[in-house]
Amino acid sequence: MWIDFKSDTVTKPSKAMKEFMIEAEVGDDVFGEDPTINELEDYSAKLFGKEAGLFCCSGTQTNQIAIQVYCKPGDEVICAADAHIYKYEGGGIARNAGASVKLIQGDRGRINAYDVITAINDPENVHYPISALVALEDTMNRGGGAIYDFQEVLKIKEVCRKNNLPLHLDGARVFNRLVASPIDYIKYGNAFDSISICLSKGLGAPVGSVLIGSKEFIRQARRVRKVMGGGMRQAGIIAAGGLFALQNNIAPLTKDHQKAQELGKTLLENPWIESVSPVETNIVVGHFHTSEKLHSFLSKLNENQIIAMPFGDKQIRFVTHLDISEDQLQKTIEVIRKIS
Ligand SMILES: *Cc1c(COP(=O)(O)O)cnc(C)c1O
Repeated sequence: MWIDFKSDTVTKPSKAMKEFMIEAEVGDDVFGEDPTINELEDYSAKLFGKEAGLFCCSGTQTNQIAIQVYCKPGDEVICAADAHIYKYEGGGIARNAGASVKLIQGDRGRINAYDVITAINDPENVHYPISALVALEDTMNRGGGAIYDFQEVLKIKEVCRKNNLPLHLDGARVFNRLVASPIDYIKYGNAFDSISICLSKGLGAPVGSVLIGSKEFIRQARRVRKVMGGGMRQAGIIAAGGLFALQNNIAPLTKDHQKAQELGKTLLENPWIESVSPVETNIVVGHFHTSEKLHSFLSKLNENQIIAMPFGDKQIRFVTHLDISEDQLQKTIEVIRKIS
């Protein structure tokens, strides 16, 4: 059996999750009549102290909807150069919202309040695009699952407040963040105007994301979702997987983090590897001395039915998740120790 570390999206729904899904009550969600979706949206919003939620098919959709609610064509989104919303959403900021971007390098993709202050354009100067949104990602995927310092987030929030800018969180792995370094969810949620939560990453649901925010924000987001063809009908059957995930699969993320730690230590012992980024959550990024070594390493893993991803020219990424068993981790560690 293949051991798949390419992403935490590869998990399959457990038997208990599938049973819960089969039992879900459903209705036409475009008319607001799917009780399971209503429950999931309400549950997600309340978790972070928000007024309302919107169930969507993917994290790309929740992020792109949020950007369209906040930005008019020509406006500017302030985010990290490595942000998923910029790098991995098919140019959606430009294509869907007609907006442009002001990119900040950041520390492993984490931007700071000072960066944000300097990135905001003077709205009175007609040369500049209107700064319309600041977006953060926590944990930061390209940063190797790096976590934001919450004090810095609060500083960014303050800069946004003073400049009348909304702050959106791409929280695809927000539960990894909150499990690794616990903060009261409501306190954390208060720092952001809107949050996109992924149900199909570490939480192990097969489909879906939820966008949460104020009632007025979600009212507008619901309209954008419809325009994007994202209004689904009896989708409670899939939303149930998400609800089950939120109610059962948050605490077990700790195990994924422990596995990532072990994997990180093992990688560091390998002579082909120069360094390993600090492992803060469920993502492990190893840096090779050369690109050739990276590719030999990947193919040796492959010969042993282990899948990891190239993550740039000399980098490898492993993501731990629910479907990596302790035995599979130990097998992987043995294989890595033999490669040289
Ligand atoms: C996976 C991911 C998303 C959303 O991806 P979808 O595949 O569209 O659900 C958004 N942001 C980050 C950081 C992600 O890792």
